[in-house]
Amino acid sequence: MTSTASTRVFAILGDPVSQSLSPVFQNAAFRHLGLDAVYVALRCSPAAAPALADAIALAGGGGNITVPHKRTVARAIGDATSAMRRTGACNTYWLENGRVRGDNTDVAGFAAALAETVGDIRGARVLLIGAGGAAAAASCAVLDAGADRLEIRNRTRGAAETLRERLDDERVRVREDVTGRYDLVVNATSLGLRDDDPLPIAFADVAGATAAIDVVYRPGGTRWVRAARAAGLTAADGLGMLLHQGAAAFERWWNRDAPLDVMRAALLAAAAGPG
Ligand code: NDP
Repeated sequence: MTSTASTRVFAILGDPVSQSLSPVFQNAAFRHLGLDAVYVALRCSPAAAPALADAIALAGGGGNITVPHKRTVARAIGDATSAMRRTGACNTYWLENGRVRGDNTDVAGFAAALAETVGDIRGARVLLIGAGGAAAAASCAVLDAGADRLEIRNRTRGAAETLRERLDDERVRVREDVTGRYDLVVNATSLGLRDDDPLPIAFADVAGATAAIDVVYRPGGTRWVRAARAAGLTAADGLGMLLHQGAAAFERWWNRDAPLDVMRAALLAAAAGPG
């Protein structure tokens, strides 16, 4: 559909943002449903992000927020959802009843990816590596899904302690060693974005784990997921989380079900790269 004078504009705001796959699969959804809307990526400064999100939403659009603006925008949006409050981050914005609203659909995105990859984790013992924004979202999803224990390990221990305090849940512990037995291991660091990054954890150190989820994604998949599969675990990279956070955002904007199959096909094609 070509743009018209009534085309609604949706934008992902971040820095950098040119690598984002969100425009590909959101525009595929818009086209599939014949929506008069376009989704673009806009690089902007932290100071500009809240005002830009406000202006786009007030003009009848909406969008997403990515690194490094999620916390800045969360602080600027008055109405915090439970996911925003618990993570301190906003990744989705839109206009509802004349007011700019925000949410953090990374939580729902990780929850859906978890359900697709692993299924029921009630009673599970989970090791999570990392303590940044993705780790906060994954932690909320793991706790909501009924894990028995969530152990957080991070390069900077203080950040893990801060996340534990924010989560305020007696099932959460901060660990420096990983000698325990775990059912599920989650990489929520940025390790793996480059193929020569060290692995966040070796699977020999978490013998007994049966599943691994990486929040990172890159063309050809991540080395950590390949290592997990080679060690016999069920594993998935961050594409599932990306897809489902986008589907949940779509549902906030349009108040209707997202065309998940169309979005998944567009995302997988884009993630596979040219050719
Ligand atoms: P943050 O900057 O908030 O957190 C980064 C985390 O990675 C911190 O825990 C940091 O540890 C750790 N880390 C970074 N470098 C190293 C290193 N060399 N060794 C050990 N630990 C390291 O980023 P986000 O949480 O927002 O993003 C993390 C990853 O998740 C990114 O790759 C991002 O693309 C991905 N992501 C994927 C999503 C999806 O939909 N699949 C959604 C959101 C993010 P420390 O505290 O010590 O600095």
